[in-house]
Amino acid sequence: MTTVTTPGLERFRGLVSDALLSEIYDLARPLRGVHVLHINTTAQGGGVAALLRVLLPLARELGIPHTWRVVQLDEFAATFMARLTDMLQGGEPGLITPQDQRQFLDSLRSAMQPLVDERADLYYVHDIQLAPLGQLFPYMRPALWFNHIDTARPDPAALQYISQFLDAYALCTFNTPFSVFPQLPAGRTAVITLGIDPFSERHAPLSETEGVVLLAGSGIDPTRPLITQVSRFGRWKNPWQVLEIYRLVKQRHPEVQVALVGALEASDDIRAQAILADLQQRAGDDPDIHLLWDPAQLTAPVVNAFQRFSQVILQRSSREGFGLTVTEAMWKYQPVVGTSATGVRYQITHGYDGFLADDAESAASYTLRLLEERELWRQMGEAAHRSVQERFLLPMMLRDYLAALLRVRQ
Ligand code: UDP
Repeated sequence: MTTVTTPGLERFRGLVSDALLSEIYDLARPLRGVHVLHINTTAQGGGVAALLRVLLPLARELGIPHTWRVVQLDEFAATFMARLTDMLQGGEPGLITPQDQRQFLDSLRSAMQPLVDERADLYYVHDIQLAPLGQLFPYMRPALWFNHIDTARPDPAALQYISQFLDAYALCTFNTPFSVFPQLPAGRTAVITLGIDPFSERHAPLSETEGVVLLAGSGIDPTRPLITQVSRFGRWKNPWQVLEIYRLVKQRHPEVQVALVGALEASDDIRAQAILADLQQRAGDDPDIHLLWDPAQLTAPVVNAFQRFSQVILQRSSREGFGLTVTEAMWKYQPVVGTSATGVRYQITHGYDGFLADDAESAASYTLRLLEERELWRQMGEAAHRSVQERFLLPMMLRDYLAALLRVRQ
């Protein structure tokens, strides 16, 4: 049988194996013409939007029609969900009252109003925020659900609460094996490897000359070392520890600068403003602490420049389902100083393509090593790039994604 190739996927020939590309074309064939509707809560900002932006065009090119709709949560639902996320992700105890549950489902019903006439052959619902949709709207069949947060150690009450909605889904998908809910039957779970698109503007090659201009435009002195964390201003991203590490490193290298890069636009993270204000207060009048949040300034090339041309990249998440920012920096030849958070330890091999350390002192000593031993930094950066090429590029995600659709379709 002749295989119809697509330009989007053919860009990866040579970067991933021919066998993987053939597998993708084979998986896509029986799905041609099957309309898939994705529903999530953010069009901009955050990893889910980043994934859908690169996955959907490739799937469409393969002949599988895709639609993406965004549901706007009201303030009550967003706050309720932030609390549930803390319970599920942080293992924090909490109370989910019947009154809150009722109000949350009412909020979801009204938020879905603009979408209720949308029909598709398969429905893909993202995040715990929207988990009840399958049950609330029985026309959504067959449906898949994607959990993006770190649920390796959930609070049992929160897990029980969210699990009651999952019977509506033919398949529940997770971004690492560690986050899979153990009570779900294996036949109804799948892991989808997350991958980045190295050809997108966000990750395109950038010369050092261009990078330096972009960094200088963001207030950075390119002649002095810079340590950076690229992440939303979210509690579980632990930006406070980035400042601690910076202060420890500065004791030995007074010329060091630090940047926290997090465009404030993920409309589902309602606490980011408060975290930013707290960090601004802690930063005081230190001109070497750069807190960057303006989405108009943080264009794709600017974020790319921070990831490529910082001397050291940190990812201090205390919880992480899968940190796309880790993969992105590794692709850009950066050995990341990460933590043992679920996704991060799945992505980094300690001592080979990055470092894992949870406390500020150990992380500061790894940061110092990478700052001072640039040959080690270079070699580990090469290894980081290779690791992403082997494990976390877009075609790997596309293969797992198509396989998940097929399991539900057959
Ligand atoms: N990101 C961005 N601008 C920023 C900060 C983050 O474009 O100022 C992107 C980042 O490059 C990554 C995504 O937002 O693609 C964040 O995904 P991740 O999985 O790291 O974290 P999440 O926000 O989903 O928890």
